[in-house]
Order: sequence, then structure tokens, then C-alpha cells
Amino acid sequence: MASERGKISRELTDLLARGRDRQLRLAVTGLSRAGKTAFLTSLVNQLRHAGLEARLDMLPAAREGRLLGAQRLNQQDLGVPRFPYDQAMAALNASPPRWPEPTRGISELRLQLRYRPARSGWLTPQTTSLTLDLFDYPGEWLLDLPLLQHDFFSWSQAQTRAHGPQRQALFTDWQEGVAALDPAAEADEAQLAELAERYAQGLRRAKKAGFSDLQPGRFLLPGELEGAPALQFFPLPGLIDTQRAELDALPAESLYATLAQRFRYYQQHVVRPFYRDHFRRFDRQIVLVDVLGALNAGPERFDDLSRALNHLMQSFDYGKRSLLTRLFAPKIDRLAIAATKADHVTPDQHPNLIHLLEALLAEPLQDLRFADVPVKAFSLAAIRATQAREVTQQGQQSAALRGTTLEGEEVLVYPGDVPATLPDAAFWDQQGFNFPAFRPMPRTTDVLAHIRMDSAIDWLIGDKIT
Ligand code: GDP
Repeated sequence: MASERGKISRELTDLLARGRDRQLRLAVTGLSRAGKTAFLTSLVNQLRHAGLEARLDMLPAAREGRLLGAQRLNQQDLGVPRFPYDQAMAALNASPPRWPEPTRGISELRLQLRYRPARSGWLTPQTTSLTLDLFDYPGEWLLDLPLLQHDFFSWSQAQTRAHGPQRQALFTDWQEGVAALDPAAEADEAQLAELAERYAQGLRRAKKAGFSDLQPGRFLLPGELEGAPALQFFPLPGLIDTQRAELDALPAESLYATLAQRFRYYQQHVVRPFYRDHFRRFDRQIVLVDVLGALNAGPERFDDLSRALNHLMQSFDYGKRSLLTRLFAPKIDRLAIAATKADHVTPDQHPNLIHLLEALLAEPLQDLRFADVPVKAFSLAAIRATQAREVTQQGQQSAALRGTTLEGEEVLVYPGDVPATLPDAAFWDQQGFNFPAFRPMPRTTDVLAHIRMDSAIDWLIGDKIT
């Protein structure tokens, strides 16, 4: 009798817990071209085909045949664009297949997952469901968090500190324009707009050249703010500490005060609302990183990615005294970091890829563990575009990849070894790392081929569908 009562109360507790957990808000981020659009497309595709042809062996609910699939629901927040899943699938189904157009701002898609709970009893329903709200937003927006702890003066100093020569060279237009500015002169609107555009061009050039540590984030992905005066500012180079009081005392119409005022506007009306209205409400988060792309692009880009990730990860540092905790009290309780496009290297290199990702994020990972935020690293391919092959060369077996380049050429390549630790000068001197971009593979089923999407899905939502 007592044990029967124990069972009932356990089942009641289960039921209540499930009731509370009926909804999960999962966010996907990463810098541009990290693979967010591909990831979210594949995630939705895998979950929709979960009870059918999808290969999700590392997700217990799917492996045990309890996950019955997913349907799209209308989202709650009508102010956020819907993630264009159908368009993405149409591109992948085209002949020849194309990569989906990347999303450029925040987008959302709501799924209802149906599954049979593992433990059944008279209080547990036969099937139950979880509402999964998926969000995709640019990692560039997170680069703006550190900007909240600055005023215009200290931000200018931080932004104009020595950067590498390659990066500086991309800003010469802007540098020539700002060199002659007098902070005390009256602000000239047209001149500010022109110089802000030159600064934005420098950032865009740097982005194109593979640099990642770029602020303000909205200069790269302005969304609805395109052309607005909120984006017409830039840092002033050459400010020295002893000037601060004098500059702060300048009248409101001065160039310095105008730039400072726009900087404050950007903080209050662009950066804060994203954290307050969206970020604060995410339950789980995956951060995607194109580690292999940076290896391909050389040492200065690789170092820059490392710096950018260190800034970006500050948004997940929930130490009690962190800026974020003080300002917004976020509630992300589980985090995944993933090196994307793992199908660009042979499977024997995948463990190294994870080690390298962990090395890149060593400092933020240490902070997260200290703050007791569960975090796990993965290497994955959301949409696998190559096939692993063994080739025999002069009697020696070795691993290789077969795929089709974007130009349509079928190739068999060995892209190189991935270092397990941060690459040093010797790595860059001795070992080339080179791979082409591949075209998605044509398919005979509706399901997208992937590498370890199931492991990532298990970490992110598996505990909610037991
Ligand atoms: P986003 O800007 O973060 O949304 O990045 P996308 O998802 O648009 O990905 C950028 C590009 O990376 C794509 O156009 C593809 O060329 C490539 N890519 C993304 N995911 C994969 C993948 O799983 N495998 C391969 N081979 N390439 C990928």
C-alpha cells in the first residue's frame, strides 16, 4: 500500500514537472556563415522526420521509437519574422541543390513535438507533447554586449587600440577622414553620415576578409535600422585619458558630444532591447563556430575569431557579478558549442576538431564551468555534403572525402590534419590547410544527411522528452 502510494506520488510529481516543462525556447547563434541557417533547417527537418526515416540514434526518444515527429505551429510573437524553412528546403531540393539563403536578423519557428513518455502509468498519458520555440539570431549582435560597459570615450579607446596591419589596412579610407576631425567643432550631419558609412564599409570589408571581432554588430547586419542616425557614429581615435574631463564638458552641438549621444542611443535602443526582449527568455542555446573556415583563412583571421568568440561568450557568463546577470538576469540553463561543417574533414579528424574548439574557447569555458552552467562541445555537420572514402596510394590506405564543388566539379580530396591545440607559427608555416566549399548532395529521401545532429539535439532537448 505504502509503495503504491509512493508510486502515485512519484507519478504526480512527474506529471507536474512535465506540466511545467511543456515549452522550451531554444536559440541558435553564431557569426555570419557559421552555419546557423543550415543548422536550423536540419534541426527542423530531423525532428519532423523523427518517427520516420531520420537517423537520430543518439537521441534515446528517437532510438526507442517514442518520438513520433513534429508539426509546425503558429508562433506567439508576431513581431519576429518566421524562419524560412520551406524556402531553405526548396533550395536544397533544387537541381543542382543550393545552400539556403542565410537569415540576416532574428527569426523564429515553433514546433510541437509528440512523443510517448518512457515511463508509463495510469497517470501518465500515452502520448504527450513539447512545444519547442526555435530562434536564430546573428552572433554579431552578441559582440555588442561588452559595449554596454563602456561610455563613448572608453569605447573609442578600446576600438582603436592596435589591430593587426591587415585589418588596419581595410580602414584607411575612414582613418584619413577622421584624422582631421576636431572634437570641439560643431557637428556636421552630412560629414558624420559619410564617415560612419566609411567605418561601416571598413567593417564589411573586414568581415569579407574573414575577420570576426567587429563592433558595433548592427553596422554589419543593420536589419530595420539601415540608414538610421542611430547607426551614424564611429569611435574617435587617439583619445588620451587626460583629455576626458575636457571632452565631457564640450557643448551638445559639438562633434564629440554628438557622437557620444548616438553611442548612448545605440546602447539604450538597440543593444539593450535585444537582451531584454529576446535573449533573457531563452532556455537553451547552441553557439555555432566555423573553426575550419578560420583554419582555412590563415593566422590573423584565426586569432581574430578567437578574440571575437571570447567577446561573444561573455553573453553566457552568468557569474553573479557579470554584466549580463546584473542587467538582465538571463535563464539559459544549458549551452552547446559546436564546430560546424565537420564534413569538410575526414572522420579521423573530428576528435581534434572538438579539442581545437575547446582550446579556442578555453577561457570562456572555464568561466562557464565556474558559474556552473552545463556546457558541452560538439563537432557536427548539419547538412552533410561529402562522403568519407578510403583511398589506396602506393600501397598505403588513407582517408579522403568525395564531394562536388560549388562549381560542379566532382573531387576526391584530403583537406589536411586539424591541430588539436591552438595552431602555432610552425603549423601555419609548414602545413597548408585547404579545402573547397562543397555543394549540398542531391537526395533520394526527404531527410537531410548529417553528422552528429542527433548528439546535439539530445544534449539540447533530450531531457525534456524522456
Ligand atoms: P549563417 O550565416 O550562420 O546562417 O550560415 P549558413 O547556414 O548560411 O552557412 C554558410 C555556408 O556554410 C553555407 O552556404 C554552406 O556553404 C556552408 N555550410 C553550412 N553548413 C554546412 C554543413 O553542414 N556542411 C557543409 N559542407 N557546408 C556547410
